[in-house]
Amino acid sequence: MRIKAHKLDGVEYRAAANIGSEIVPTIVVLHDTAGPLTKGSSASYLASKNTAGVSVHFVVETDGTITQLVPVNRRANHAGASIYHGREYCNAFSIGIEIINPGRMEPVEARDGIVRGRAWWGQLFEDPVGILGLVRKATPQHGDGVWMPYPQAQLESVVALLSALFDKILTLEAITTHWYVSPGRKVDVNPLFPLDQVRARVLGDHHPEDADAIEASEPAPAQQEVQVAAAGGLNLRSWPSWNPNVITSIPDCTVLPVLRSGTFNGRLWHRVIYGGREGWILASYTKPMSNKEA
Ligand SMILES: [Zn+2]
Repeated sequence: MRIKAHKLDGVEYRAAANIGSEIVPTIVVLHDTAGPLTKGSSASYLASKNTAGVSVHFVVETDGTITQLVPVNRRANHAGASIYHGREYCNAFSIGIEIINPGRMEPVEARDGIVRGRAWWGQLFEDPVGILGLVRKATPQHGDGVWMPYPQAQLESVVALLSALFDKILTLEAITTHWYVSPGRKVDVNPLFPLDQVRARVLGDHHPEDADAIEASEPAPAQQEVQVAAAGGLNLRSWPSWNPNVITSIPDCTVLPVLRSGTFNGRLWHRVIYGGREGWILASYTKPMSNKEA
């Protein structure tokens, strides 16, 4: 995908009624529509001169169809009262993506073991054969609810859209969520959204330090594995250094496939895969697995 005149090539554009002044976007805020799943209904509402005055740059349908409503260099009204690392009113410096999803649903108790949830507009979602994959889950950020996972086609479109945006808009720095910038007020995206994986897929290859480290390291022997030996867990890092580049903490005793190894600043690092993400760990906090002896 390319961006021409601040519109994404190959994506349907229908102008929203609420398009604000020019902005320089530095973050992308991900949302759930928290509305019906009917294709086009949320896009029509968000494009309209709605009484809430809301608008958004992109809508991603459950089948992966993307519609753009606001040019990426113009302000849309998607985040409301919000703050990102000290900067208030994120609409002034963010691109908004609305993902079609019912949002939080009220759990409906039943004795048959089938997960059911009632959306705020009254629609009952139930999942007798498990196709929707409805899950009841509580997190500190979201509270308790029944949630619908995002179909793969929709997630692939979100990743493709984010990748195109980060490729073309050099001011963009981070992918965040409405619950993160409006804590206590908003719970979207829902707790089933694979935020870490999406971030890793979009941003993972964008660290020049990582690319340099891959160049300067050697492929590991096939099937090489190490086991984490660090009681408090071991940090998986975007590139081999102690900069603030932690992707996640890997629990003690986790066995990891090693992709590459290299010495940086006098220390041996391994590039490994953990939770679907590639990153770097310090070899001195691992022990080799004596493979296939059992
Ligand atoms: Zn939102």
